[in-house]
Amino acid sequence: MRNETSVEIAELRRILAVHLESFERLAPLQERVLVVLSALPRKVRRDLLQDPRFRMTLDDFVPGEGRTVWLACPGPGGNGSRCVVLKPQLANCGETFAHYVIAHELAHAYLHNGGWGEIGDPETAADALADHWGFARPAS
Ligand SMILES: [Zn+2]
Repeated sequence: MRNETSVEIAELRRILAVHLESFERLAPLQERVLVVLSALPRKVRRDLLQDPRFRMTLDDFVPGEGRTVWLACPGPGGNGSRCVVLKPQLANCGETFAHYVIAHELAHAYLHNGGWGEIGDPETAADALADHWGFARPAS
């Protein structure tokens, strides 16, 4: 964990327990989410975790039935979605890529799927903010 003390990490684990419950069978994914969240600026983390509209959930994709990636679920309150849907594969793929994807999705949630500063395009904005947090898009 980059920024936080062990006490803060323990507190973060408690706060996250409710969100991460759906990842129980995917322990590596829980750890990856924790690594990313603990690296975020405190202000950002509190903004997300203290918002009742913020959700993290596991994509219930069934192989063979097809599903577009990264669904944005509409959030109640009309101020943009704050729902992060993570795919189970993020528990198994390369760690750097997984951290980037999780940070990118958290950036969408933080930005309410909108732009960031002068960046209007939500995808570019999420990439830029993830990069700013230390999780650059890996070279492909
Ligand atoms: Zn995106």
